Amino acid sequence: MTAPLIVANWKMNGSEALLRDVAEALVDRQGSVDVVLALPAIHMSLARALLQDGIRWASQDVHWLESGAYTGELSAEMIAQMGASHSIVGHSERREYFAESDEIVAKKANACFRAGLIPIVCVGESREARQAERTEAVVCEQLEVLLAGLPQGAERLIIAYEPIWAIGTGAEATPEMAQAVHAVLRDTAQKRGFRLDKVLYGGSVKEDNVAALMSMPDIDGVLVGGASLSAQGFSALCANAAATHN
Ligand code: PEP
Repeated sequence: MTAPLIVANWKMNGSEALLRDVAEALVDRQGSVDVVLALPAIHMSLARALLQDGIRWASQDVHWLESGAYTGELSAEMIAQMGASHSIVGHSERREYFAESDEIVAKKANACFRAGLIPIVCVGESREARQAERTEAVVCEQLEVLLAGLPQGAERLIIAYEPIWAIGTGAEATPEMAQAVHAVLRDTAQKRGFRLDKVLYGGSVKEDNVAALMSMPDIDGVLVGGASLSAQGFSALCANAAATHN
């Protein structure tokens, strides 16, 4: 059985002090969970100095080009040089506030592969789409555009199913709702000749609901926002995930 993958998305939060606290709190969790910290880029050099085997770090975004006149941006190659192993791509906040289309998300995922980073690509439906029973149509469309932009058979692709209505709201999807979408995503990818390495769930995951989510057969891990900003809380969440992994 592989350890659950727990990705912490700090967004534009956190500090060096928090990184030190998290590193210390996770010392006892090594081996039972696979942790990736998606940090603000400014904290990556400390991550490189501080984090032990078994705790990796990621960026929260990349530009799709290797270099150029794009003020304020970071390329996947630059992130890889900072020792990161992964990058989140296409988070709903990027899609909403920075107008990232499915096509741009595909280009960014490609840039990750080019640079040797593992992309964690987010898909998810709005509340309106869920209410209109369009969840599967929306997430499959996002996945199809992504796969169409990737080399056939690209491996190590991670998808994070993050219903937008569940992010930061405290209203998580039930384990059954998440399981149903994960199964559809896997199936859709397979029909296009891709094998998803992992499918994560994200959206109001906390210490007390992670166990039920992780007991589902197609949930390989979780993407955690708010609850990753407390070292003790995040460590407890990791422990609960490890204890009940399917
Ligand atoms: C996220 O931003 O990816 C997320 C899942 O946030 P939260 O856990 O706070 O809902």
